[in-house]
Amino acid sequence: MELFPQEIIRRKRDGYALEGPEIAAFVRGLVDGSFTEGQIAAMAMAVFFRGMDMTERVALTRAMTHSGTVLDWSDAGFHGPVVDKHSTGGVGDKVSLILAPILAACGAVVPMISGRGLGHTGGTLDKLDSIPGYVATPDNERFRRVLQQVGCAIIGQTADLAPADRRFYSVRDVTATVESIPLITASILSKKLAAGLSYLVMDVKWGSGAFAVRLDMARELAASIVEVAEGAGLRCVALITDMNQVLGRTAGNAIEVRESIDMLRGAPVCPRLERVTLALAGELLHLCGLAPDIAAAEAAARQALASGRAAETFAAMIAALDGPRDLLDRVDHYLPLAPVVHDVLLPSSGVVASMDVRAIGLAVMALGGGRRQATDQIDYSVGLSAIAQIGERIDGERPFARIHARTNEAAAAAADAIARAVVTAEHAQAPDVVGERVLV
Ligand code: URA
Repeated sequence: MELFPQEIIRRKRDGYALEGPEIAAFVRGLVDGSFTEGQIAAMAMAVFFRGMDMTERVALTRAMTHSGTVLDWSDAGFHGPVVDKHSTGGVGDKVSLILAPILAACGAVVPMISGRGLGHTGGTLDKLDSIPGYVATPDNERFRRVLQQVGCAIIGQTADLAPADRRFYSVRDVTATVESIPLITASILSKKLAAGLSYLVMDVKWGSGAFAVRLDMARELAASIVEVAEGAGLRCVALITDMNQVLGRTAGNAIEVRESIDMLRGAPVCPRLERVTLALAGELLHLCGLAPDIAAAEAAARQALASGRAAETFAAMIAALDGPRDLLDRVDHYLPLAPVVHDVLLPSSGVVASMDVRAIGLAVMALGGGRRQATDQIDYSVGLSAIAQIGERIDGERPFARIHARTNEAAAAAADAIARAVVTAEHAQAPDVVGERVLV
């Protein structure tokens, strides 16, 4: 029986659960054009209001996964399990750059397909693009070779990976339908499943810098992702982490690569950044069977950092993808910072009690560190460093953060926006950055 787009949309609009063939017809329509832009938008809005049950979510995820190439590593001769981490996005989140080489140094294989910044959040791919020469979109043959040689490769999504998601996301983005848990679940997992993973750890962020502003939304998203992943055959665990302050001391692109290299080389870094990175590593190394329990897994990750093996793996990945061979030794040469340096001073001294992380992310974007529109060029050299954390004292001696800008005007505007985003008090203490653990 022919399935007409408007009939499928009507059934979802009226609150029915869609059947497998209806979901398959919709996903086919995303790729072959048999659903028009308007029909895709209507479907997105119907799902936004009516939701999808777990059976529908698994069917949507599977159909979107198979809308393009599904990578198969079974004949690649890998010596370890194929794993990945995905974060729902935040400000200052450079964990992927540190975690992928840690995991590879511990014996896993990490085909990490990362994205560009969305809205106020940064994207791993943009950070990597700040490294001169780095090829972030190798063909599948080269991707496989780098994984065989190095154990990890962080690259961008190729055109043939989950193409249904690309079209669907572009319509959702302009129709206020991104914030739908079933649709976010299928979007994220279809790309992960198409990358041929066996194990996934999800970092589901909540707070003023996350898409899930409220903790209950993050819980719901984490539960949905874990359940649908397992339903689609992907072993998955999620950690809910706090995005009510910038993660680490930096936000931007080249400047976040610098902080990542610092951590890989054993320099003292923000404890929250280290905590999130090691907790995610611990979960994943345990889940995939490379460690008998989480404590042993975290210890292995810590050892990969302390021994320098994670740094060597990162350097090897950069070199294998045409970045500079001596990046780690010549950071200032390859990752220059913008010329205007300006401290963010707050009107009153005190302890940092809270911050509007989204506003800080938007200030970085306004400096040129992110895109207002998909076609915008990024200025990789701008951003923030020395960002204070909740609980730290700020006064005339210790600014809240340091701005790296292209012009004095841009720096002054960012300083003003950031100062307005921070609240101080007499005392304040942040909760543990790592919250609940979600698994089926
Ligand atoms: N990230 C994705 O990849 N997809 C979504 O729908 C939302 C965030």
